[in-house]
Amino acid sequence: MTERHNAKAFRMRMREWLAANVPAPSTATGDAAVQRSKAFAKLVFDAGYAGIDVPKKYGGQGLSPVEQQIWREETSQLPVPLAIYDIGLGMCCPIILALGTEEQRERYIRPLIEGSEIWCQLFSEPAAGSDVASLRTRATIDGDTYVINGQKVWTTGAQFCDFGILLARTNPDVPKHRGITMFIVDMKAPGVTVRPLRDMAGGTHFNEVFFDDVRVPVGNVVGEADKGWDAARLLLSFERLAVSGGGSGVEGATSGPLSFRGLTAAARQAGTLVHSATQEGLLDLFLLEHGINTFNQRLTRESAAGIDPGARGSIGKLLKGRREVLAGTLTSRLIGPEAVFDTASAPSRTTATLRSFALPIGGGTNEIQLSIVGERVLGLPREPQADLEIPFRQLDARRRGV
Ligand SMILES: Cc1cc2nc3c(=O)[nH]c(=O)nc-3n(C[C@H](O)[C@H](O)[C@H](O)COP(=O)(O)OP(=O)(O)OC[C@H]3O[C@@H](n4cnc5c(N)ncnc54)[C@H](O)[C@@H]3O)c2cc1C
Repeated sequence: MTERHNAKAFRMRMREWLAANVPAPSTATGDAAVQRSKAFAKLVFDAGYAGIDVPKKYGGQGLSPVEQQIWREETSQLPVPLAIYDIGLGMCCPIILALGTEEQRERYIRPLIEGSEIWCQLFSEPAAGSDVASLRTRATIDGDTYVINGQKVWTTGAQFCDFGILLARTNPDVPKHRGITMFIVDMKAPGVTVRPLRDMAGGTHFNEVFFDDVRVPVGNVVGEADKGWDAARLLLSFERLAVSGGGSGVEGATSGPLSFRGLTAAARQAGTLVHSATQEGLLDLFLLEHGINTFNQRLTRESAAGIDPGARGSIGKLLKGRREVLAGTLTSRLIGPEAVFDTASAPSRTTATLRSFALPIGGGTNEIQLSIVGERVLGLPREPQADLEIPFRQLDARRRGV
């Protein structure tokens, strides 16, 4: 059988399995939603669809990125309750596979793809978002442990997480991009405090996380000490690929209230499908959806052939962000105020509309993606940066006016 036929048969089998096993959409939140996700993740694992392109020795299926992409495409059309694993699967798993020690891979990968352990990303801080290399969280060595002190913010899902990938400063006497280290942190360790932040959709999607003398074993360093910036850039490139490839939540997928299909149905119902402005907007949405899909398929084929996508995930992330904003704006235009106020009869649409403005910020803003595409994909001149050679301690003191 040819490779194409194999992929087709794989897709058909998966489609059948999903049709029989994906639960009906639910309005569960908090711990109930987490338990529901865990139960479904276990089903996925037992059926052999978890960690599709992860090596078998770590519990995966040992297949190629092509089969992994088929999973993404098929699940993007269904209300699959796996969004809580997006960060673990899209960023933490690939970074541990790429830079982790054998011990780390053996300890963490299997429970991660099985869904029994949930992960978060601890990069952003109150004064370090786009410029994450300005982070102030410190890690000081004490025997065979590091002691972490500082604060992170906007940490998605932290209140439900078992582990996080954290960036901390291990040497403040060198310029800001050097002297950073990446760690695996136990989110239940003494000294970790998670405070949920209420967002405008009414949920607690993200959190503030405080670290007070949190002890992390030396063996939890990912990659090399003080070389965390290289690790962070690699993780961010995984993040952009994962985001543009489509997560597993209801929002932003090719079905759901903000998809081309969902919005066309809403326009038909509202009687606005006949208006040329509506048609134009829907056409733009359709083109963006297909453009993103085609682009992802190309990156997947290249990746299966051993061609590194480099910074090109930023193109997909940028397009996906634009798609979300367009979809959110169109929804408001088509449906009016009910797009954001109808929490009783259309809770998923309300949440999706309000959250449509988050994607162009989370995972790096549109402006940052544009700079990355300009500099690292198109080879345009780099943005001037005056602080590249100044030791962080000096830079930070200057910023705080001391
Ligand atoms: C839904 C959501 C989930 C998130 N989840 C996580 C998470 O799990 N973990 C985590 O670590 N972080 C997370 N974040 C944080 C996110 O990564 C940051 O919000 C983002 O990087 C922007 O940082 P900032 O909010 O500090 O904005 P700033 O960096 O202060 O930016 C403010 C504005 O200035 C612009 N700007 C800044 N620098 C430049 C530049 N050099 N050139 C051009 N324009 C510039 C930005 O584009 C933006 O418009 C999440 C954010 C959102 C919205």
